[in-house]
Amino acid sequence: MGEVREIVVQAAKLHKFERVRRVVLEIGRLSGVQADSMRFCFDLVMADTPAAGATLEIEELPGRAWCNRCAEEVAISSRVEPCPKCHGMPGKIVQGMEMRVKGLEVEQ
Ligand SMILES: [Zn+2]
Repeated sequence: MGEVREIVVQAAKLHKFERVRRVVLEIGRLSGVQADSMRFCFDLVMADTPAAGATLEIEELPGRAWCNRCAEEVAISSRVEPCPKCHGMPGKIVQGMEMRVKGLEVEQ
């Protein structure tokens, strides 16, 4: 959460904008960040920043991993979930760990 605040504050400084109207966040399902709790504490986290009172939009990304045995990308819903096809542990998580600010709508 504090990470998001930092990103927004840094972006505001860099681009010299006064107010952020809307924040679009991308949250991976495997990142450990709950979209609901993010929505819940967003106002509090963003208090005293240019994004205070901004609207929060969240885009959730499903988890995907590369399975070496199947040699393909498979859908997973947790970091410790085996491959749904061969039940081996997939190698590398390719999507779902991210938590990033995808877009900011600002007032100049
Ligand atoms: Zn597999």
